[in-house]
Amino acid sequence: MTIAPELSGRVLTELAGAIGGEHVLTSKTARYNRARVPAPFPVHRWPERVPDLVVLPGSTEEVAEVVRIANAHRIPIVPRDGGTGLTDGAVPERRGIVVDVKRLNQIKEIDLENRTCTVGTGINALKLNEVLAKHGLIYPDDPASYPCSLVGGRIGTSGWSLVGSRYGHSRDLVLSFDFVLPTGKVIHLGDGGGRKVSKSSSGYQLKHLFMGHQGTLGIATEATLKLFPKPEAELSPFWSFPDYDSAYRCVGQLARAGVATFAGAVLFDEWKVDYLRRDDEAYIPQPADVRALVCAVAYGNEDEVRAGGKRLLRIARDAGARYLGDEISQGDWAARHDRYATPLHGRTRSGQVAPMSWHCEDAAINYTELAGVRVEWHAIVERLRARFDVFDDWGMFFYTSANTGVDYLTEIDIGIWEQELDDEAWAAWVDAKREIAAVALRAGGSISACHGSCREGEVDLVPLELGGGYDVMLDVKRAVDPNNIMNPGKYGLQRAYEQGVRA
Ligand SMILES: Cc1cc2nc3c(=O)[nH]c(=O)nc-3n(C[C@H](O)[C@H](O)[C@H](O)COP(=O)(O)OP(=O)(O)OC[C@H]3O[C@@H](n4cnc5c(N)ncnc54)[C@H](O)[C@@H]3O)c2cc1C
Repeated sequence: MTIAPELSGRVLTELAGAIGGEHVLTSKTARYNRARVPAPFPVHRWPERVPDLVVLPGSTEEVAEVVRIANAHRIPIVPRDGGTGLTDGAVPERRGIVVDVKRLNQIKEIDLENRTCTVGTGINALKLNEVLAKHGLIYPDDPASYPCSLVGGRIGTSGWSLVGSRYGHSRDLVLSFDFVLPTGKVIHLGDGGGRKVSKSSSGYQLKHLFMGHQGTLGIATEATLKLFPKPEAELSPFWSFPDYDSAYRCVGQLARAGVATFAGAVLFDEWKVDYLRRDDEAYIPQPADVRALVCAVAYGNEDEVRAGGKRLLRIARDAGARYLGDEISQGDWAARHDRYATPLHGRTRSGQVAPMSWHCEDAAINYTELAGVRVEWHAIVERLRARFDVFDDWGMFFYTSANTGVDYLTEIDIGIWEQELDDEAWAAWVDAKREIAAVALRAGGSISACHGSCREGEVDLVPLELGGGYDVMLDVKRAVDPNNIMNPGKYGLQRAYEQGVRA
């Protein structure tokens, strides 16, 4: 696949002049490598997603210059950090330029007194925490993709941290950031005008508007982050249950217990336990009477964690849990970052192993609705499996979003044998995603708690979820990005430029 002719001459020269020719990549490898994310997709349609160019700017000014050039020529731009986003946000829908921000990976300041640091958005939390550890500090944004997702991508998705009940999620942990608008103008976003202020009542709360937009409003280049003391102690007890219902009751009680060091709790249903049981590397005991699992996590000072932990253990015991022992508890929680690193263990209906990739559909669901959503989601995947032997149900998990226990990241993991997909199977999959999203909305939830909802299928229901708020989204998009250059096609926002959209 070649570069669009209109991009190969003058634009290349302008970009090379702005950021250096060596940072403008045109090779097939550089472009194909940035045409997908880890979520399965129809490989027979891969060429539709390949960008024309990849650029690697080295500073906010260079990002701004690239964006100015693209805006002047009306060329689509897609920001990309780690490329781990699972809703295709960093995948071009209309070719154009991928702005890969990985060179913006410096630590600019560590402020030990105010407990903040300022970093380029191309850095990730793992690398950052290696440096912060020397100061006894931590940046606790902890997704399962911790080693490979980067700060800019966390801003672009407004990501979910597995220890968010204790420390908050990306939106709480990012204090402020420098942001290149689609016109090339650079602004600073945060509470008030400050870099390190965490609560202000001055003006609109724009920081949140410019998080989670999946690269449709601009590019974050430098961020100031909240830091915490590196926890002295971690407790992560794992318990088994004979059925989903008792595990469900237990997880609710743990989340609502008011234990200050409580950082999160996760519940695995019986489908997930079956999936983990069948693979040799899963670090979970195999007895058949184990039908559901719960893990709670506490972080903090040694004495506080010990006291809070006693209470969590008592609650679980009273709820009928069987503690699985220290080795498994520590081992499995430690594996939270690599549980999905080795999928490829799909099963066809006959039980044959097939090389499947991992897809997850997630939603934000209230505690009281979890059981009903679980039944409906598994039924949708079952119907899909009955029609096409390229899908596998890898089970569900439920993750508290806060220590009030009000709502849960609810996720169903699905294996997809993507090499075997054809247009018909892909269309059925997209329909299934739409059905899954519709269940979440009927339950009073949100289509996504974690990854965003701009992928084929679920994206169709976003206007339904947001109602009048979606019209405001269209207005904002048109006002901020008058030429629709920033990640065009995502979130259905092309509608903002169509005739008949409200003025
Ligand atoms: C194994 C695995 C486990 C995961 N677990 C979690 C989890 O626990 N919690 C969670 O939240 N997510 C999880 N994810 C999803 C993914 O890691 C997150 O969505 C993450 O925030 C994406 O970061 P990234 O750096 O890879 O961003 P990318 O994938 O590069 O980009 C994501 C989106 O942000 C936009 N973007 C990228 N950089 C910028 C920027 N500088 N400015 C503005 N917009 C930008 C992109 O255009 C895109 O729309 C997981 C993914 C994998 C593969």
